Amino acid sequence: MPFLGELSTAEIDDLVRRLGGKRYNTRQILDAYHQGAGAFQDVTPLPVTLRSVLADQVTFTSLEHVRTAGSPTEAQKFLFRLHDRRSVESVLIYEAPRITACLSTQVGCPAECVFCASGLGGLVRNLSPAEILDQFLHLKRTLPKGQKITNVVIMGMGEPFLNYANTLSALRRLNAADGCGVAARRITVSTVGIPKRIEDFAAEGLQVNLAISLHAPNDEIRKRVVPLNRDRGIGPILTAARKYFEITGREVTFEYVLLDGINDAAAAAEELANRLKGIRCSVNLIPFNPVEGLAYAEPPAERCRRFEQILLARGVTATIRKRKGSRDAAACGQLRLIEKSAQ
Ligand code: SF4
Repeated sequence: MPFLGELSTAEIDDLVRRLGGKRYNTRQILDAYHQGAGAFQDVTPLPVTLRSVLADQVTFTSLEHVRTAGSPTEAQKFLFRLHDRRSVESVLIYEAPRITACLSTQVGCPAECVFCASGLGGLVRNLSPAEILDQFLHLKRTLPKGQKITNVVIMGMGEPFLNYANTLSALRRLNAADGCGVAARRITVSTVGIPKRIEDFAAEGLQVNLAISLHAPNDEIRKRVVPLNRDRGIGPILTAARKYFEITGREVTFEYVLLDGINDAAAAAEELANRLKGIRCSVNLIPFNPVEGLAYAEPPAERCRRFEQILLARGVTATIRKRKGSRDAAACGQLRLIEKSAQ
């Protein structure tokens, strides 16, 4: 059976008519779907018989919720099973007054960043637009009445620009007034930096925020930390970031995971500040979250602060951000790994 999120409006329309419904029923179904209904039975404006015949023809959601870890006051990580028994994760991050949904775009990840659990097994497959959107809709359903998702970050498992068309399709539906209605300025897409795709994305007219995971001040360190980019230097990524600002008017955020003894030296901060000169941007410094099986460590707090101070002193906006959800196995990709090892 097809998933509802995979069907176009015309296809739903066609199905509804064949099952004896009216054209306006299609809008009722889509509105309920985008507002977070979990099944055809929840689409109360529809006649009861139509709800049940539709449920025989179409699967309402592409995800089966498997488990949740974490706390509803800090961060909760959700594990979902897909139709092919693969699994994927999403996160809700609570930072009042914000509630941020972090969504995945691939099963596994081809980037293989050395500090990340998601990259450990490489890429398994791309997620479809419905599988990306259904993560948001499931998270929306789990919130108690009166709470709502205020922000979306495409920062979970996967490299969104290596699943470009599907990610874009999901983003358009997230943002559309007759879709989920999330304002573009509240959506952030995070990439390891695919220069051609950054420029393509700038031209899409979406006005969403862009975050680039840089993690290094020079090509030598970057090759060690982000193997996917071993053939691409930092230079073209920074040029694309400049263009993103020129075209969209939106400042780029650079993500920089601080790894003890690898990229956290004062000289690295100086070099980074020089590379970023003239780019309208800010830097998020993220002290590494220990991942079981990975031989990296979080730098001492004092070294993280020194790194931040050097950037600030050279006119680069920088903030140290503690990654939420380091407890309860909620670091990036860990829930999926635990599930895999338990199978
Ligand atoms: S940090 Fe992001 S891009 Fe890097 S391996 Fe993990 S999921 Fe992929």
